Amino acid sequence: MDLGLKNKSVLVLASGSGLGKAIAGEFLKEGASVVLAGRTEEKLASAAADLEKLTGSRPRFSPCDITKPEQIKGLVAFASETSGRVDVLVNNAGGPPAGTFESFDDGAWVGAFELTLLSYVRAIREVLPLMKKNGWGRIVNSTSSSVREVIENLILSNTFRLGVIGLTKTLSAEFAPYGILVNAIGPGRFDTERIRSLDRSLAERKGLPVEEVSKGALSRIPLGRYGIPEEYGRLAAFLGSEANTYITGQTILADGGMVRAVP
Ligand code: NAP
Repeated sequence: MDLGLKNKSVLVLASGSGLGKAIAGEFLKEGASVVLAGRTEEKLASAAADLEKLTGSRPRFSPCDITKPEQIKGLVAFASETSGRVDVLVNNAGGPPAGTFESFDDGAWVGAFELTLLSYVRAIREVLPLMKKNGWGRIVNSTSSSVREVIENLILSNTFRLGVIGLTKTLSAEFAPYGILVNAIGPGRFDTERIRSLDRSLAERKGLPVEEVSKGALSRIPLGRYGIPEEYGRLAAFLGSEANTYITGQTILADGGMVRAVP
């Protein structure tokens, strides 16, 4: 299938490593022009070099802390400066800290809101005029399997990611007249630094060896393994492409069958 992504201008947030980087890689493989963003310039430079080796195309990158509205504005200006367009926005962010209700004060709640939900709102606000002008756009909001089944010790993620789902569904109707399709995706357990650190945190809390925690997690995944980030990237690339003409307002998990909730 031709995804129709050649020369599309794609912005992927939080893409210096992990799932964001893999998403960027899949868009590059399809011939899109991609901008990476994250807080650490060296990480972005190294991701850009890796992705060029992998795909033959070099992404541009710009340091950006997505909790800072001025930096998001600057990033979107950077992403659109050569073509005047951002055709596809993939919203992604670092995970909020692990913990239970009693772990967090107001500052932590506000910080998680800004990172997990408000950053997506702000990025969408910046790209909207560009997509409207073009009469075409795709927005893919990355969340977590926690939007279908809450995850132990992750109260901040469990709470604010559901806001992203409400946002996605609402915008799918509001933006449909502009030719903009808006969807959410959620990973189950993919082998990235975030998952390794969550396994370590849970092991510490329960006083168990980390291997035991990982083994328990694997036993709940029917496909019997953690996902490979590229498998998640392909889902994002499809939803963010011209091949996707009729899917909007949906939340789709890539989880190897882990979440038992219906739908
Ligand atoms: P990761 O490997 O830790 O990567 C997160 C990326 O986000 C890093 O490149 C980091 O780069 C960037 N980042 C963090 N804070 C940022 C900020 N304020 N501004 C801009 N960039 C920022 O995590 P991941 O596994 O790819 O996960 C991505 C998201 O999916 C996270 O929210 C995670 O909780 C969620 N998730 C992942 C899984 C999984 O299976 N991996 C499962 C469920 C949910 P800098 O530090 O350089 O900014």
